Amino acid sequence: MPIDATAPYDDANIFAKILRGEIPCNKVFEDDYALAFHDINPQAPVHVLVIPKGRYVSWDDFSAKAEDRKISGFVRAVGRVAADLGLPAPGYRLLANVGGHGHQEVPHLHVHIFGGRPLGPMLAR
Ligand code: AMP
Repeated sequence: MPIDATAPYDDANIFAKILRGEIPCNKVFEDDYALAFHDINPQAPVHVLVIPKGRYVSWDDFSAKAEDRKISGFVRAVGRVAADLGLPAPGYRLLANVGGHGHQEVPHLHVHIFGGRPLGPMLAR
């Protein structure tokens, strides 16, 4: 069920629980700004989620409200994870769903990293 990306942050969301260590994840990277882990329902041979450390509902919320160092730290973390996974040479895709039309289901900003095979056209037609 898609969420309303303009709603206040919900501390009970599943990625908030992962950040607090209340439920496990299959971690691939962590630093001061971001946590990356394998998606529980992968859509490609590589499907990793990168989430910022902070209470941000969506890309919209994060880009408007986060401090510059948190934005740069998060963006660099996404690039670092993709590089660590060996994705830059074959290529990969980043995706951040926002709100209803974006079909965002978890109300904590996450960037999907997809790779490991040719990914086809950008959107289903
Ligand atoms: P989105 O539609 O962009 O909000 O994507 C949410 C993603 O989170 C989906 O790809 C889910 O498979 C994934 N997901 C949900 N719960 C978990 C979890 N506990 N651990 C890892 N990935 C999850």
